[in-house]
Amino acid sequence: MRLLNVRLRPPLVLALVVAIVVACAGSPAAPAATSVSPSPANAASVSGTSGVTVTPVETRNPEAERPGAGVQTAQPADGRGATTAIGGRSDTGESAGGGTPTPSAGPPSPAPGLAQDGPNADALAQRAWAFLTELTAEHSPRASATEQEARAAEYLAAIYRSLGYQTTIQPFEVSVLVTDPPVLRVTHKGESANLTPAPAVDAQPLRLSAQATAGGLLSHVGLVLGDLPAGSVAGKVALIERGLIPFELKVSRVTNAGAVAAVIYNNEPGQFGGTLTTQARIPVVSISQEAGQELFKLASAGDAEVVVTVAYARRQSRNVVAERPGANPSRAVILGGHFDTVSDVPGANDNGSGVATLLAIAEAIKERDYPFTVRFVDFGSEELGLEGSQHYLATLSSEERRTIVAMLNFDALGSGAAGVYGTDDLANQALSVANASGLRLSREANIQGGSSDFASFEAAGTPFLFFLASDFSRIHTLGDTLDRIDQEVLGTAAAVAIGVLDRIPSLGS
Ligand SMILES: [Zn+2]
Repeated sequence: MRLLNVRLRPPLVLALVVAIVVACAGSPAAPAATSVSPSPANAASVSGTSGVTVTPVETRNPEAERPGAGVQTAQPADGRGATTAIGGRSDTGESAGGGTPTPSAGPPSPAPGLAQDGPNADALAQRAWAFLTELTAEHSPRASATEQEARAAEYLAAIYRSLGYQTTIQPFEVSVLVTDPPVLRVTHKGESANLTPAPAVDAQPLRLSAQATAGGLLSHVGLVLGDLPAGSVAGKVALIERGLIPFELKVSRVTNAGAVAAVIYNNEPGQFGGTLTTQARIPVVSISQEAGQELFKLASAGDAEVVVTVAYARRQSRNVVAERPGANPSRAVILGGHFDTVSDVPGANDNGSGVATLLAIAEAIKERDYPFTVRFVDFGSEELGLEGSQHYLATLSSEERRTIVAMLNFDALGSGAAGVYGTDDLANQALSVANASGLRLSREANIQGGSSDFASFEAAGTPFLFFLASDFSRIHTLGDTLDRIDQEVLGTAAAVAIGVLDRIPSLGS
């Protein structure tokens, strides 16, 4: 699951989340992009406690709820109206627009006369759990574009091969932020600063920051609501408070007044991410409110110096692609999910759960004949911005893309109540399969604060179905551990996905 710190009101959510993902997808990879379409000024990713929420469709008739219908106002340019605070206290339990964060649909009662077809959910749950425990024990963490990710890819490829799938590892390059030296470090604390040493401050570049190293005296300039006197921060690093006006305006004002770098601190607890609307001439980074308060004390001492470094390095990442060709080469169904984790976390739910569920499905259907190609794609570097799925799609011709009749995505589906989010046809089929099998599954109308690889396919016009579960509270934290995973929801996702595969021939063309 890729976290975004923008909280939007339904039904705008998905359209904007997708737009943000698209807009930000090249962010680390191409920070010097020459232009971006106007996007919410604070569109950003945030690490820390998840702020992802889902909003269930309340009616049992999914046709009645179509995400994206309707017109709404843009967020305030500086993002103050968008509740962010991932990692902040105000985050818990928020659900914009009156939805509830917990799917409320009761378990569907099995339709009389419909027997479950195929492997049962309990057996699939046990297999997924076995895959998950081994993956977690041997290959966690597996941060994006690292050696650990590479070893995990080999491990997964070997399993798919052993199941009889034609398997390749598809390498690609990504840009990752250089953190050694740290993005922001205090090089001189000043005479009167009696603070405990904190040489490295957790900071992240704004999108369209310059890539450069710059240092100097730290100068607090507040909200920068007006122009600064010419030369007033010449050669200095401007310490700026977030709020009221766009980052773009603040940064251009301090740049015009001679600043060599800009550090923007949050106006509410926690870190945030942001984007500028034009390429900055100086490095611009964001920090938490707490770090901002510390730096404010240093700046007040008068002679503190900091150095800001914004640099990206190319790293190799990879997807694992495993397929079983079908009778009709012009149709393919992709079952995908990312296998990378954020740094230093176990990633049992995000996304060990999805990877393990994919393996359980691959094993269960390895000898089934479908009238279409079944292709499993385990994506790398999702956590950097859906990089793996974007690369995978970029390697396909438009004709090849059109052969993909459906994309089923599996991400963070191991904790909470099982749900699906996706295109009407596929989501209805999933509910119908669950209903026929007596499995508890609800359809989500919205996903707020996060995204996943389905979004790359959705942007390409592919029908999609995203399997998830309602509790994202521990993803991207050390608490994302095996003991929080509910086997049963893994089995539900696997069984429903197989049921949907069985019904795809009757869908659409
Ligand atoms: Zn994630």
